[in-house]
Amino acid sequence: MKIKKILAIILAAVMVTAFAACGGQAPAPAAESAPAAEPAPAAEPAPAAEPAPSDDGVKKVGISMPTKSLQRWNQDGSNMEAAFLAAGFEVDLQYGGENEVPVQIAQIENMIAAGCDVLVIAAIEGDSMTEVLASAKEKGIPVIAYDRLIMGTDAVTYYATFDNWKVGTLQGQFLVDALDLNNAEGPFNIEFFTGDPGDNNINFFFGGAMEVLQPFLDSGKLVCPSGQTSITQVATIAWSPENAQSRMENLITSNNYGPGRTQLDAVMCSNDSTAQGATNALVNAGYTAENFPYVTGQDCDIVSVKNMIAGLQAMSVFKDTRTLANAVVGMVEAILAGGEPPINDRETYDNGTGVIPSFLCDPVVGTIDNYRELLIDSGYYSEAELAG
Ligand code: BGC
Repeated sequence: MKIKKILAIILAAVMVTAFAACGGQAPAPAAESAPAAEPAPAAEPAPAAEPAPSDDGVKKVGISMPTKSLQRWNQDGSNMEAAFLAAGFEVDLQYGGENEVPVQIAQIENMIAAGCDVLVIAAIEGDSMTEVLASAKEKGIPVIAYDRLIMGTDAVTYYATFDNWKVGTLQGQFLVDALDLNNAEGPFNIEFFTGDPGDNNINFFFGGAMEVLQPFLDSGKLVCPSGQTSITQVATIAWSPENAQSRMENLITSNNYGPGRTQLDAVMCSNDSTAQGATNALVNAGYTAENFPYVTGQDCDIVSVKNMIAGLQAMSVFKDTRTLANAVVGMVEAILAGGEPPINDRETYDNGTGVIPSFLCDPVVGTIDNYRELLIDSGYYSEAELAG
């Protein structure tokens, strides 16, 4: 055990010396080629791991995204990479496998050992970063929590995200308007889906939606026939479409939903991946564009926009990841210049160690009526990407 530890420390020192010899220019080969396989050496940060200052003054940013398996993170990763490269940074961009927490932690350890000057992290699991970020803090590396708040550690310097509570209220308000809950007699049947319990964002998405919808559940104008209205009952592990689909299938069976059977009027889904799963189950149950329940979403994923066009999803919330990427580059530039980045929220996001100063971008509703202007005219997607 002891010998192993010593070997690990020596190996870490050798790796770091090798990186430093490249003047901070090497694209972090260990993290790039074998993200999951390299945790051991960096896990024992040797004193020698202190990064040598880069000769040419080029700053290196480590970007850790949760997964490649959902469209949005690929977009966030590549938008940020492009924006940082354009601003003259060196970039080490990593994805945490299939939402694998140990992989993400090992990648961040490698980024720290390889001398990144700043870390931008969208955590798979908000409260699993304490140890690895303690070592970032020790080395004076600023950490920006990206999109998802990192919980329980005082190593988080800033938080950059969209207004997550507003995302939820937009979804809730959309359903209030679509079902005309203030005037129609009802009652209307609704089911709920949110995301991964390890993602702090679900408290905001689901909380915001419930703030708007709860009064109608209380008055009986909205009814949730399954009775599943608590955040734990409606969570979806890994935000996976497959998990959402199988839960929707169970709900369909146990509540006899379907055209000509028990009417389901709305499905409040916190994002597009869960909406896609629910939609698949509803299509399999016989619903068509003519009688489809109002399904909400978030992200304007290509699949979901196509579903909107086909009448199989009523809305999504558009969070322009280009805006967030540019905001983060601006934040990093300000931090590394020794200044204060633009901050517009100093009270909402407490990660358990105190409120994290945040920059919130504005989410907007996307529907069949405005998707062209929002997504095609703005150059977010091409016409061809949304065709067929
Ligand atoms: C993001 C959403 C995304 C979800 C699943 C959340 O933390 O804010 O935009 O849909 O994760 O990836």
